[in-house]
Amino acid sequence: MMGLRIFYLTLCIKSYGRNVLMWHGVPPLNCHEGRERLLKNIRTISKCLGVRAGDNNKNSFARQSKPSKNKFDRNGSPHSITVFSAGAAKARSEGMQHKAKASPDSDNISSQKERVQIPLGPLHAKEWSKLKEESGRIHGFEDYMMAQMISTNSNINVAKSLLVFAAKEQSGISYKLLLKYLALCVRQNQAAEVCDVYNIMKNKFKAFDTGAYSLFIKGFSLTDRWRDSISMLETLKKTITPSPKNYGYCIQGAIYHKDDKLAWALYNEMLEADLTPCEDAIQSLFNADPALQDETFRNKLFGVFDYFRDHQIYPGEPLMQSIKSWFESIPNESWRGHLSTVSENGHCQVCKQQLESIHLMPEEYRTLKDVFLQSVIEGHDTFRKTTPQELQEFRQFVRSHPPYDIVVDGLNVAYITTKGRGSQTLLDIVSGLCSGGKRVLVLGRKHMLQESRTWQRRHMQLLQQRADCFFIDNISEDDPFLLYASLNSGSHCCFLTRDLMRDHKSCLPDAQTKRLFFKWQRGHQLVLPFYTPGRKVLLQPIMCYDTIVQRTDFSWHIPYDKMGVDRASFEVPKTWLCLQKKH
Ligand SMILES: [Zn+2]
Repeated sequence: MMGLRIFYLTLCIKSYGRNVLMWHGVPPLNCHEGRERLLKNIRTISKCLGVRAGDNNKNSFARQSKPSKNKFDRNGSPHSITVFSAGAAKARSEGMQHKAKASPDSDNISSQKERVQIPLGPLHAKEWSKLKEESGRIHGFEDYMMAQMISTNSNINVAKSLLVFAAKEQSGISYKLLLKYLALCVRQNQAAEVCDVYNIMKNKFKAFDTGAYSLFIKGFSLTDRWRDSISMLETLKKTITPSPKNYGYCIQGAIYHKDDKLAWALYNEMLEADLTPCEDAIQSLFNADPALQDETFRNKLFGVFDYFRDHQIYPGEPLMQSIKSWFESIPNESWRGHLSTVSENGHCQVCKQQLESIHLMPEEYRTLKDVFLQSVIEGHDTFRKTTPQELQEFRQFVRSHPPYDIVVDGLNVAYITTKGRGSQTLLDIVSGLCSGGKRVLVLGRKHMLQESRTWQRRHMQLLQQRADCFFIDNISEDDPFLLYASLNSGSHCCFLTRDLMRDHKSCLPDAQTKRLFFKWQRGHQLVLPFYTPGRKVLLQPIMCYDTIVQRTDFSWHIPYDKMGVDRASFEVPKTWLCLQKKH
């Protein structure tokens, strides 16, 4: 594979009026010679390339940038939503909708104009020029083509020939175009190309945007220049919180290069920053060279399971397989792993062990209720969008009614299906819930009482006849009301919403209460996986056992996400890794 350096040098030669050589016609330089020449000539090369500094949008640079707005923001690259992210299903579906609605330059253009076929092999400048003319995309042709090449993962040589053409055509390659080329190189693990782009960009620009840093971090992490990834992470840290992906690649780079201390330091730093480590990073720790895995290392890995347990993290199948192999290879211990499921009454189908109960002990429930209700009432954050009057009114309402069996998030449930009117859906589902003699409270918003296409008055009137309803201000957050009413009704009371309630973790004072809260949530949140208007309401039964990593002296049970199973974020996996130690 000819390096980027070849055509840079070719361009350099061309610009000095020597023999005009096509880049792909130049014999490849050997690696050492090529690098030496590149380093010597880098200033000249950059000049010849004429990378346009003006295209390097200063507002988006890491040094000046604000966190979170960049597409490589705190939440990571565009692909940063990991299987770990609770809400991943929701995020995915929202992402799809957003994609469908959004109209980024290239996509927008492509919908208006015909797609240009990507050449199968590198083109000469003249051929590119002809293609450009024929495409009818005089403006932004190069960017458009490079974007297409990224999305189709095209041959790198074709991309290089486009760069050569752009350098000639535009009197310089724009920062934006170079970045796209870099993205393609990183995607294809073209380490030498990544190095060359870095050298060029470093000479031409004082700083990179966070997107470029993220690409370089990934591109360098598994190469000899992996320490550059670490330096770039440090640079990013000065202005933003690096994404879990940024950290993840650095962890993988460190462990791959046997610097386990650094890998664990980065892992701990992520946890301190409240970032969820990516699955790949954790997998790299489990797959670390056995020579690194002394007792201290192994204890740190056991600490990862504590993290899984405390944060309800469910590994995906590849990580689960690594965990299984890791257990089975622990020296002087004879662990055996099996894939399992759990019966309705909570027994592992492989070892027959009874799993932990989902139910809180009465004392635990009391603690959770006291702490939560106190933090709801005193914690201004939780009710920041409501008024003290509304809160007071609601507390009075709850006190003056007998305990409920089910509390329903009315707005959330009304939109459970896109078919039919919201008010009809809500009425039908609540009627179904009440039919078994259950006492139901529906929390709604005041706007639901105004006649509209979605909210029909006759449905809302019938709803109020069948269940108690409390309508809060349109701007108030309904979750705290839902949790308040549920917890206040007693440990038998469940709630129905697709919301994950993650925001409320922050208002709970300590890890113990957080754990209790999520356990209570897992045992009390009703799941309506699908709903067809006019059909019976079928709730998923709440399991009597807790779906969470659990251990005894001689066993581990780890729930994991089976490949290809699309689990909604408010659901729990049904597949388990059962590990047994012979004794
Ligand atoms: Zn088992």
